[in-house]
Amino acid sequence: MNQHLIPETIECARRDFPAAVFHHFELMRGTPRDPELGAPDPDVVRGAMPEVLRHWEGYRRFYGSGLRNRLARAAKARLMDLYLDLARGENRMPACHVYDTHLVLYETGKIAFCELTDPIGDVRDKDLPEILAGAEAARRKSMIAGGCTCTHSCFQPTNLAHSPREVLRVFDNAMRSW
Ligand code: SF4
Repeated sequence: MNQHLIPETIECARRDFPAAVFHHFELMRGTPRDPELGAPDPDVVRGAMPEVLRHWEGYRRFYGSGLRNRLARAAKARLMDLYLDLARGENRMPACHVYDTHLVLYETGKIAFCELTDPIGDVRDKDLPEILAGAEAARRKSMIAGGCTCTHSCFQPTNLAHSPREVLRVFDNAMRSW
């Protein structure tokens, strides 16, 4: 519940971590062990976004400069918009393509499409192609394609890039702010 501290957090990042390559703002997700914690107030986070976007502009070693910087920030801003809408109960997230784009390999050998879904197999038992062609992978893929949604920032940029509508929107927003 530290959404009210976003300006102070930005100032702290600038002051105390001048060599940092990038500083992200992650929305809390899942069920925390501490019941005092919870999802942020979308309105408070949205109100802080202009300052966050200015802050991100400075990370040129991470984003590059010029149009590349604007495109990266426009994509992140769009994702944050979608996350905050989702936090309000309005789901406009792009479809998840994690089953075509990512795999998570656990130290135990288990394989999953993402950390938030159940494993589809174990590389100690079967080769990866066999796991990917198996019944559990097909079941999981069907479940995800049926409308799985989250705000996991490791995966959502890829999903945004797979949505022609969202790609056009990001380009449009980047060019408007040029
Ligand atoms: S929407 Fe999120 S939880 Fe669902 S499969 Fe995609 S990355 Fe995993």
